[in-house]
Amino acid sequence: MRYYSTKNKNHLASLQEAVLRGLPPDNGLYMPEHIPAFSSGEVQAMASWALTDIAFHAAKKFLAGDVPEEVIGSIVRKAIHFDAPLVSLTDNLHILELFHGPTLAFKDFGARFMAHLMGWLVRGDDRKLTILVATSGDTGGAVASGFLGVEGIEVIILYPSGKVSPLQEKQLTSLGQNITALEIEGTFDDCQALVKQAFLDPGLSEKLRLSSANSINISRLIPQTFYYLYAATRPQLAGSPIVFSVPSGNFGNLCAGLIARRMGAPIEHFIASTNVNAVVPEYLGSGQFQPRPSIATISNAMDVGNPSNFWRMAELYDQDPEHMRKDITGLAFSDEATRTAMKEVYDRFGYTIDPHGAVGYLGWKTYEARHPGKRQGIVVETAHPAKFTEVVEDVLAIKVPLPSQLQAVAAGEKQSRLFPVNFPQFRTFLMDRV
Ligand SMILES: *Cc1c(COP(=O)(O)O)cnc(C)c1O
Repeated sequence: MRYYSTKNKNHLASLQEAVLRGLPPDNGLYMPEHIPAFSSGEVQAMASWALTDIAFHAAKKFLAGDVPEEVIGSIVRKAIHFDAPLVSLTDNLHILELFHGPTLAFKDFGARFMAHLMGWLVRGDDRKLTILVATSGDTGGAVASGFLGVEGIEVIILYPSGKVSPLQEKQLTSLGQNITALEIEGTFDDCQALVKQAFLDPGLSEKLRLSSANSINISRLIPQTFYYLYAATRPQLAGSPIVFSVPSGNFGNLCAGLIARRMGAPIEHFIASTNVNAVVPEYLGSGQFQPRPSIATISNAMDVGNPSNFWRMAELYDQDPEHMRKDITGLAFSDEATRTAMKEVYDRFGYTIDPHGAVGYLGWKTYEARHPGKRQGIVVETAHPAKFTEVVEDVLAIKVPLPSQLQAVAAGEKQSRLFPVNFPQFRTFLMDRV
């Protein structure tokens, strides 16, 4: 399978090029040349398959021909070693819990699969691959954990000193091995600028093999199709149309759902649920895509004002909002409504939902009220409530116990190197690692 750039269909890249480069040279986004589909017989059979079986067969559809079958199996087993349970709150409202990975957010699916696939793609190279990541918190944690111990790859994380939560800082700095954390005496933008400058430096890229692990890498979308295929084929949902409500920010998760549907997942409709950063719901209303600076909310992993994956969605619908509207409804909600929804879910169902999942719940509830008829609603829960204890404990007036994964992190020892915002010094640091 080859991958094209959303800015130029004639620019085709191999799997290796698309994954290790991350972005095409024209600054578009890589898309698979065609979307592989399961036969209706295969989709029916999936009802009795486990998540890892579905993951293996779906990964094979994309990677066969480029990666040997036994390697695909091993990447899937190493990356997806946790479950994605579908918890039913009523007979037609279900929560798809995507937070059972090591960093308790759905980003573990993408980051771990990307890490192990990259590890295989660079096997036998004499030069190490150095991955530079600037992070304001969560992405860095999933990437660090995903790449831990992957041979042939070294990860250098830059984070702004004093601007990430203590637990997030531990997630970035306590791993050791092939993960190095640089605590930058500056802002997230300073971290990002240092990384950008490193990529543009010809001397550096001559000596070091640099790559990024950003969220728009195509290898992060592939594993996110697995859980849509899995959830939509569970036998208890059979018989009624299935609607997914996806709490969205940069729209990678929703985009993977659209791809899973084209692969054959029996999904009737998607709800793009956002906080007040509502650029995509507005596009679905007006047909105009108008990015703008983001606004801070309590569902902060969705505070995105210019969602990158919008261009992949536009590509899937031939840039036609009318066409996209048939499959996706966009709905946006305030922090006030989100808090009320968290309370409602707790009081009615005894379920503790995090602020992102609560936005998804509101999306489903609104859609269901507007569309009479029996449907199965699946709300995608993207993070464990313990990742957002402050908001959850404040709104629900309960204590959220720290899951074992976070207890281990909290007990780890911070190992970081304080670093000024100084490119020549950063450059020397990188050169000295060769
Ligand atoms: C990243 C993230 C999102 C947004 O996902 P996108 O793929 O960027 O739309 C939602 N919830 C949580 C908890 C996240 O970490």
